[in-house]
This record gives sequence, structure tokens and C-alpha cells, in this order.
Amino acid sequence: MSVRELVVLGTGSQAPSRTRNHNGYLLRWESEGLLFDPGEGTQRQLLFAGVPASAITRICLTHFHGDHCLGVPGIVQRLSLDGVRRPVRAHYPASGSDFFARLRYASAFHEVAEVVEEPIEAEGTLATGPFGQLRVRRLDHPVEAFGYQLVEADGRRMVPELLARHGVSGPDVGELQRTGNLRGVSLAEVSVHRPGQRFAFVMDTRLCDGVFALAEGADLLVIESTFLAEDSALASEYGHLTAAQAGRVAAECGVRTLVLTHFSQRYTEPNRFHDEAAEVFDGKIVVAEDLTRVAVPKRR
Ligand SMILES: [Zn+2]
Repeated sequence: MSVRELVVLGTGSQAPSRTRNHNGYLLRWESEGLLFDPGEGTQRQLLFAGVPASAITRICLTHFHGDHCLGVPGIVQRLSLDGVRRPVRAHYPASGSDFFARLRYASAFHEVAEVVEEPIEAEGTLATGPFGQLRVRRLDHPVEAFGYQLVEADGRRMVPELLARHGVSGPDVGELQRTGNLRGVSLAEVSVHRPGQRFAFVMDTRLCDGVFALAEGADLLVIESTFLAEDSALASEYGHLTAAQAGRVAAECGVRTLVLTHFSQRYTEPNRFHDEAAEVFDGKIVVAEDLTRVAVPKRR
């Protein structure tokens, strides 16, 4: 069975606490494993989550504040320790190349795994594959930051009743899918349009065009809500969002499942983030806890 789920590894901003590890998120999308913003302790959180380092196919950094990248040394060395064979791509803002070089070679180790650096120079599409397209947009934070979007191509879903009506069965179904036509029966006659799924990852930022572009039509949106609206002046000063703003983004962009995370330690009641976002967004809201797993919602 295909797996599309978010494994939350850490949810705390700035510094880890007793209940929240530094940031870290693994998106499992069939054979891809996108590790977003690994903060300190990510290697151990993967262990608690029961996910092997070999599941990682890409490391995606939004920016180079420590809570979003201090886990890179441990992860990079673990890939080699485990002898991971497939190349792991690393995406990060190109302006932080010196930081990445230091994180990657932070201490002595025997380098076996292949980490292929693909620094982000500009907005656009970073990669294309069976998963669709991996795209980035600029965010608004005191240091250069990019948010990520995974966009699956639209496809077609075969309808069993229509297949039966046209006498298509067994291996012929695959043949028709590949060729688009089989003995006078076209793909359109036996299938319906299937919209591709979308995932968006929006970390440290003020509200800006990039936030809305990334969140547009997302089945699953992971977004920082460092602050509550009562501290919106702080959010704006330090380049962050409030839960109310995150809820507004989800509502305006037609998001289905909203995951709030990256919480300031000043707050002790996580429900307040939920309640604030729920005032403007009536879809599903998950207030992320460490080791939460969130399924990409089923297709409509
Ligand atoms: Zn930051």
C-alpha cells in the first residue's frame, strides 16, 4: 500500500523543551522521504518514530537558523554509518552555502553515503519525478528563507463499471493506461479526472505572497504558528506567524488539513493555537506534538 504521511519529529521553536524537540518533519510520499528542517536531536527522534535513516531521500532546509538545521551533522553522518546507498539530495538557500558546508563536515567521519547538494538560487521547480514537482517560493524572514510545495500531476482514475462495460480487464487495463487507446476504447471512456495531491511546508515567515502561493489548494499544509494573536507585534518584529494568520491562510487557500507547529515556549496551552485558527478555518486542524503522524487526506 502506498504511504503518504507526515511524521512530526519536533515542534519547538528556538530551543528544545522538556516536551518539544527542535523542529523536524519527515514527509513519506511513497518511495520519497523528504526531511524538512532537521533541528538538534532529529536522529534520535527518527529512532523514536521508528523510521530508518535510509527512508530519507531529500533534506530540505527552509533557512539557516539553528532550530531548522542543527540536526544536519547527525543526519549526514548517520546516512554514512548506515551505508545508505541511494543518493540523498540536499536543498537549502544558496546564500547559506558556507553554513551547509560546515554542518555537513562538522566533525570527522567516514563518508560513504552520497549527499548531492542542490542549493536554491531562485523560486521555481527544484525537482521533478514520479512524485510530481518539488517547488519553492520565497518567504519573509530576517534571513533568506524558502517554503516548499510538492505538487502531484493530475491523472485519471479508472472506473471498474466503465471498464466492465467496455470489456476491458486484466492486463489490458494497464495497456490502456499506458497507450491511451485499446481496440477502439479510449482512456477517457473508462476513467475520470483525478486531481493530483498537494503538500506545502511553510516555516519561519511573516505573511507574504509566497505563503499564499505555497498553501494554495494544499491537501496538507504544515505551517509555523510561533505566536498567538495577542503577540502579533512580536510575530511581525521577528518574522513569524500567529495561529490566527495560519488559519486565515488555510481558509483563503482551500487547505484541507492544517498542521500548526513551531511553537514559542512562552505558551503552555496548545489548545489555544487550535482555537485561534478554528475561528477562521473550519477544516481539520492538528496542533502538532512530537511524534504525531498525520496522513495526507484521502483524495476527494
Ligand atoms: Zn528562523
